[in-house]
Amino acid sequence: MKARLILSVVTVLLILVLVFWSTSIDFSRISIHFLNDLGILFAALGLLLLFFQFVFSSRIRFIEYGFGLDKMMRWHRLFGRIGLALILLHAIFIVYYRLSLFGDTFFTVFILVGIIALVGFMVTGALASQYRRIGLAYETWRNIHLINYLLFPVALVHVFYHTLPGSLLSYLWYSLAFLYPLLLIYRLIRIVAVRMNPYEVTEVKQEAEKIWTLFFKGKKLDYKPGQFLFLQLLREGERSSTHPFTISNSPTRSELSVTPKIIGDFTLTIKDTRVGDKVFIDAPYGVFSFLNQPLKDLVFIAGGIGITPFISMIRNIYDQNLDYRVALFWVNRSENNLCFTGELKQIEQELDNFKVVFIMTDQPDWPGEKGRLNAQFIKEYLGDMDKKAFFICGPPAMSAELERELKEFDVPKSNIYREIFEL
Ligand SMILES: Cc1cc2nc3c(=O)[nH]c(=O)nc-3n(C[C@H](O)[C@H](O)[C@H](O)COP(=O)(O)OP(=O)(O)OC[C@H]3O[C@@H](n4cnc5c(N)ncnc54)[C@H](O)[C@@H]3O)c2cc1C
Repeated sequence: MKARLILSVVTVLLILVLVFWSTSIDFSRISIHFLNDLGILFAALGLLLLFFQFVFSSRIRFIEYGFGLDKMMRWHRLFGRIGLALILLHAIFIVYYRLSLFGDTFFTVFILVGIIALVGFMVTGALASQYRRIGLAYETWRNIHLINYLLFPVALVHVFYHTLPGSLLSYLWYSLAFLYPLLLIYRLIRIVAVRMNPYEVTEVKQEAEKIWTLFFKGKKLDYKPGQFLFLQLLREGERSSTHPFTISNSPTRSELSVTPKIIGDFTLTIKDTRVGDKVFIDAPYGVFSFLNQPLKDLVFIAGGIGITPFISMIRNIYDQNLDYRVALFWVNRSENNLCFTGELKQIEQELDNFKVVFIMTDQPDWPGEKGRLNAQFIKEYLGDMDKKAFFICGPPAMSAELERELKEFDVPKSNIYREIFEL
């Protein structure tokens, strides 16, 4: 389902809320009571946006398809921020209205329920955006964030109590109260399905000083090269946290594989995985694949471990001898970070239409290309930039900078695809 369709659905619903709300307002006699009316409108719009936040983070496959989980998570964050701001405004307007008109907030237990939901959302939201700055582990804030699944029904209790039964807005709350459990049931069914079909580790292979590949066998997975999975390892009876990794093998090959680089607590333990360990895999996700676009001339730009979606796509093209031209630019600090080099060089020798350029940023004695990769270099190398699809996967700053530079060379935005290893 395309992003535009989802955005249209959200827009239509927001407009409907506005229309429902406006039917109860006498615009010819605007008075202080309008503050109360505005407060109600903010609550309705805010809660609707918060509901979609849950939709975006529920990994619903038919929505994610053609959309991308990374984009959905960006929307999740955006909707969360706007929704929360609106709900905060709701509280401010209602309190101000009541105090200025009646000198009392008419505090009840249902107002307390609303305050608990609002404060809860604010705390979890703040932790999500500031966890790095305050040194919180990723898993810690994620676990705390799950509290939001409880806070949403709490917020619904508050609005049900304060909405006139049978009013148009009350139907919005009925709909959300009906759809929300369905979202939870969907997530639970996915979790159970994943747990019931564990995969098994068949090989643990060191690729470079800090890079390992894990191979798995299990139920055949229908995926596109470049897509990713969520993985949870079961080692010595202990379940690890769940982490996303690109599937580094190609669907043309029998085993699934991922190639993690050590950067933190979990990836540090990858080397301790043993053949025969069980793995829970939730997949496939993502839209970063040459198969999702029409052009045959592909430019792959990888930074460090951002090579993984490209090795999957290159293996796929190679295995099936597909009719694509591929130029791979792979930037690394030094050759110590390289993996798959033998395979890439061998494919380059065998396929006329495949070229690979290794670029080192911090290795003065590297005999090949050195320094920062920029669009000027790519253009000089390719000759022209027309009718080419540019795929970029690397550190966010490098990736954003390259996209900007490519656009300056008149590459249309629609021909640039980016994958960022952050959700
Ligand atoms: C779509 C996608 C594909 C990826 N593919 C690869 C790959 O092929 N190879 C590779 O080495 N890395 C890949 N990553 C990154 C990988 O998920 C993180 O390196 C890993 O989760 C880090 O965990 P850690 O505990 O070792 O490090 P930490 O120090 O705990 O985390 C470092 C950063 O990794 C991210 N991260 C950590 N835990 C999670 C989690 N449970 N869920 C989501 N993000 C998390 C956060 O941005 C965090 O700031 C991919 C990420 C995404 C989103």
